[in-house]
Amino acid sequence: MTDTLPRTETAVLDHWMNGAPWAGASDRTGQVFNPALGTVQKEVRYATREDVGAVVDAASAAWAQWRDASVAKRQAVLFSFRELLNARKEELAEILTAEHGKVLADARGEIARGMEVVEFACGVGHLTKGAYSENVSTDVDVYTLRQPLGVVGIISPFNFPAMVPLWFFSIALAAGNAVVLKPSEKDPSAANWLAGLLTEAGLPDGVFNVVHGDKEAVDALLEHPDVRAISFVGSTPIAKYVYETATAHGKRVQALGGAKNHMLVLPDADLDLAADAAVNAGFGSAGERCMAISVVLAVDAIADAFVAKVAERMAGLRVGDGTRGCDMGPLITGQHRDKVASYIDVAGSDGATVVVDGREVDVDGDANGFWLGPTLIDNVPTESTVYTDEIFGPVLSVVRVDGYEEGLGIINASRYGNGTAIFTNDGGAARRFQREATVGMIGINVPIPVPVAYHSFGGWKASLFGDAKAYGPHGFDFFTAEKAVTSRWLDPSHGGINLGFPQHD
Ligand code: NAD
Repeated sequence: MTDTLPRTETAVLDHWMNGAPWAGASDRTGQVFNPALGTVQKEVRYATREDVGAVVDAASAAWAQWRDASVAKRQAVLFSFRELLNARKEELAEILTAEHGKVLADARGEIARGMEVVEFACGVGHLTKGAYSENVSTDVDVYTLRQPLGVVGIISPFNFPAMVPLWFFSIALAAGNAVVLKPSEKDPSAANWLAGLLTEAGLPDGVFNVVHGDKEAVDALLEHPDVRAISFVGSTPIAKYVYETATAHGKRVQALGGAKNHMLVLPDADLDLAADAAVNAGFGSAGERCMAISVVLAVDAIADAFVAKVAERMAGLRVGDGTRGCDMGPLITGQHRDKVASYIDVAGSDGATVVVDGREVDVDGDANGFWLGPTLIDNVPTESTVYTDEIFGPVLSVVRVDGYEEGLGIINASRYGNGTAIFTNDGGAARRFQREATVGMIGINVPIPVPVAYHSFGGWKASLFGDAKAYGPHGFDFFTAEKAVTSRWLDPSHGGINLGFPQHD
């Protein structure tokens, strides 16, 4: 299946500027598929550099007022946005399923995890409080302020078209910034829907804007002198490029990259719990999650039993149209589906064993959808590209290890460090693991350890470029600049000339 199927509809999705759709000047567009049907359902505009410039100008103008909006006013807008989102989340879930393909239950989960961050951002008053030191020198006080940066750019991936933007823009707006969001061109409609809801919630026009497009739009944001910070989420090569380009243009950058998440199963683990977890975390959202488990490191003593339990559970999974109550939907495009499937070909020639082959899946959906069923590959050598590449699809690999040390060594040798999990009933082993694994987010008998909104989300190594993680306290630090004020109110006894470096008395 290719991505150039006949069009069923020619609606074109515009950018969003100053509180309304905006066509811009570009005549370039891209196709947006319904992955469960394999058809093009709309087109989306691809912004030029000039289009991006116009949107940044609008955001800069709006920021001049928004930066002075009181904390109470900003909180009120966010509270109102949260209430509207909660009331209308089913509409958004339907958009996510139609363009991404994830099943409705999963789309609802994505929205719930994004809404958590909106709720957290409502605490902006607490989270941007500074510190105050009285009388550090005679009659001199020092205090710190956290101030918004200005216009910030957010560039998001296809796999969470609502949650990832919500992670960033909720906090950026609460902190008093203006936002330009460049969502994935593969499933862009959620961004406009969220923009409309922000307007309805009372956000002044121009404070939140959306530009659609590809590399040209991204580069324009990375290089624009009035964009102060960039939050990026996507694959590692693009994250690295974004980090290097935007920092070279003087911006503050957080660029979250790809992943290859391992789950270490020790012999004393509850194997049923571990098998459930591997199936849920391996195949949820068709494996298109940056926190998906893609490799199980199974200790030899239990590996056969574990693989049998996983295969047994996989036999019960229903693959099909996300609106029909299935467990797993299609992949994002035909091209991506073909790429993921190519790893199943490679597996055999690399000496691995294909236990369940997703190419043979029965589907409850249209024959033209971008389907690939859950796939289980055992005995994967760590030299195989099945192991080394981020596959980003419903392919779960099993690498057999002789014990904890070998498993930990493999995890720590990985270039990625987003998430990892250990399944064990041994508290000592779990405690060692949380200390020794060189990974940003650790699960102990929890397969997808995405932190709650009041902790921050982010990996290590090639999974995050920059110092700041997403949301939580890091989010407010990232979207504000700290200023230290040293003040003295006039006291005649402190007059006089002194050219020495200030000292305290
Ligand atoms: P992607 O890197 O292809 O695209 C991400 C964004 O970058 C999109 O907005 C896209 O338009 C833009 N982009 C694509 N190519 C570009 C280029 N050459 N120059 C400039 N911009 C470009 O990623 P994707 O396929 O949309 O998303 C999947 C990837 O995102 C996976 O690697 C996944 O692990 C990663 N991801 C990571 C996290 C995390 O938190 N670490 C979360 C979600 C997804």
